[in-house]
Amino acid sequence: MAQQEILMEARKKIALVAHDHKKDDLLAWARYNLAVLKEHTLFASGTTGWLLETELNLEIHKLMSGPLGGDQQIGAKIAEGEIDTLIFFWDPLQAQPHDPDVKALLRLATVWNIPVATNRTTADFLITSPLMHNTYPRQLTDYEEYKQRLSHLYGTDTTK
Ligand code: PGA
Repeated sequence: MAQQEILMEARKKIALVAHDHKKDDLLAWARYNLAVLKEHTLFASGTTGWLLETELNLEIHKLMSGPLGGDQQIGAKIAEGEIDTLIFFWDPLQAQPHDPDVKALLRLATVWNIPVATNRTTADFLITSPLMHNTYPRQLTDYEEYKQRLSHLYGTDTTK
């Protein structure tokens, strides 16, 4: 399939999400990396965002709480190019009522080829990468061909 490029700005649009048993972990990580996080535009699922705002005084675009639709909102923003980095401390030891949304979010992050950290070590590697402070040409499958897949059958423009 053909490729296209999306230029990631030096100022990243980072989404932060943590399941309840991982919130302390994310908070500690964010506190340690506060100065770097302040250089970027931050989004978060509702409760995670509230916690980061209250404890660290970070400016955060808060979405709905994850189980109420926040994960899906973040997924939609990834698809629309409004979020380009995901820090998602999901809990591997607890069943989640919104497990399909969790999977969907991780899937969309892969579809749109954005960097994802699902644990603290990966988040450390990610946040200390020089690419966090530079532009980066994100390679992406060119989905135009996919969007056009039905046009030969129906003779209509399927890209809208
Ligand atoms: P929360 O959602 O930040 O509102 O707790 C996180 C999640 O479970 O996806």
